[in-house]
Amino acid sequence: MKNISKPTKIGLLTLPFMALNSIAAELPLAVSDDTFLAKTVAKRDNLAPSIERVEEQKLTAAKLENAKNKYGSKPNIVLILLDDVAYGDFGVYGGGNTVGAATPNIDAIANQGLQLNNAYSQPSCTPTRATIMTGQLPIRTGLLRPMLPGEGTTGIGLDKTSTLPQKLSNAGYTTQMVGKWHLGTFKEAQPQNVGFDHYYGILTSSDDYTAWNEQWRNPDLIHDKARNEWAKEGEIMSIVEGSRGEEARKVSPIDMESIRFVDEKLTSKATDFIASQEDTDKPFFLYYATRGAHNDNYPHPDFIGKSKSKYPYKDVIVELDHRIGEIKSSLKEAGKLDNTLFIITSDNGPFVEAFPDSGVTPFRGAKGTSYEGGVRVPTIAYWPGMIKPGQVSDGLFDLTDIYATALSVAGASDLLPTDRYIDSIDQSAFLLTENGKSHRREIFYWASNALMGVRIAEYKFMVKDQSFEFTDTWPKSSPFQSTVTDSLYGGKLFNLHIDPQERYAMTPLKQPHAPVLMQAINKHLKTFVDYPPAIKIK
Ligand code: CA
Repeated sequence: MKNISKPTKIGLLTLPFMALNSIAAELPLAVSDDTFLAKTVAKRDNLAPSIERVEEQKLTAAKLENAKNKYGSKPNIVLILLDDVAYGDFGVYGGGNTVGAATPNIDAIANQGLQLNNAYSQPSCTPTRATIMTGQLPIRTGLLRPMLPGEGTTGIGLDKTSTLPQKLSNAGYTTQMVGKWHLGTFKEAQPQNVGFDHYYGILTSSDDYTAWNEQWRNPDLIHDKARNEWAKEGEIMSIVEGSRGEEARKVSPIDMESIRFVDEKLTSKATDFIASQEDTDKPFFLYYATRGAHNDNYPHPDFIGKSKSKYPYKDVIVELDHRIGEIKSSLKEAGKLDNTLFIITSDNGPFVEAFPDSGVTPFRGAKGTSYEGGVRVPTIAYWPGMIKPGQVSDGLFDLTDIYATALSVAGASDLLPTDRYIDSIDQSAFLLTENGKSHRREIFYWASNALMGVRIAEYKFMVKDQSFEFTDTWPKSSPFQSTVTDSLYGGKLFNLHIDPQERYAMTPLKQPHAPVLMQAINKHLKTFVDYPPAIKIK
């Protein structure tokens, strides 16, 4: 190689273009699995385009066929969704005791499976839960933000014909949901009426059960008799239970003391369900969405003060880690562990307004934002004998992908809807191949009805801004109450590898990259011309 003059001597910006080109031509090109310019292919017009990896897909199909022959049934799927648990909370993600709460069970599962370092949720509860159930981004279903008290009682819910549990049910699965739903409380919207055979859990968010009865935030609702009666009747203050076709009935009241036992009760229900499947070859889908660690946290008495830091959130993390260990043990006892795809993830980043009752993210922003802190979530896939232990991947994964991936491992990809646009990408080969590569080239960031930006490889290009400093809200700095505005000067481009905290937008330096990212955004927006969104895009 010719000796290249140091740019500092010449002054890079004063170099003529020809000289720059000749330097570029002399530099060796790195051989990599780069996805920046990767080609994507859509199998049908209504399916999100993905990166094809023919060999890995063939290996995966053979692997699934072998497993089916070995176990005599399709694989079970267990999805554990934690609430507001942050990227930095688990030991394997740099958290654990370092941030005040050990997570030995979760860490062991990650070490025996695949840890995803670039998995994405939506910015808050309801939208993420909707994407997992539908394989569609929230703008397509209208489930854009958390349902607040009173809002889930009518109107919008899921289309029961196309949910993941209904599709798996059509593919021969028993479908059980345990835990937090947050996708509508009225009868037709309840889990057991949109695809699950049976439901046991809490229909809304944990704080809906406590906020009205917390001395520090709502003393008027506690001490005024009429207001107290009204508040008490305002929500379904109970764990509820129901089977397909029924309206869920109240089975276990929730108050300021019994809320401490909710995650224990949910876990018992989940492990009882798993035990009940011991003698059947019928595959099952168990969706277990925990109460914790949504604020405000009230750990089980066995876990009060048991975390290193002794804060309620941290105690609940220790409890949840224990509960996840119980689920894993019950799968083993029922002889189902080896034929089960087990996924653990969280529905959004930490709710930092509740600090110190909140999680830890190494990124910028938090729940409610499209900064990495709001949407990059810990995600672990575990399947003994099928997922090689000890893998860590930086491949892109969107929680919408659970939909198509679950149908794929169930041998039911032919059940993917044809009448609507599906954002979910089948990532089964990514999960099941040793050192597998993601099929996803782009993450699209949405905040409510605004398309915020896109990530491809290490580049994140934001076409809108999100700010969370206000004079008229409390807390004054609230990611959850952030506002979206157009980004000035044509967008902000971050390199997440060298700037994971999105501190330095490098748009002027990265002009050559911008067209690739803009093209992806425009292509994504075009899907809404062909398949109009439920709500107008901002
Ligand atoms: Ca949440």
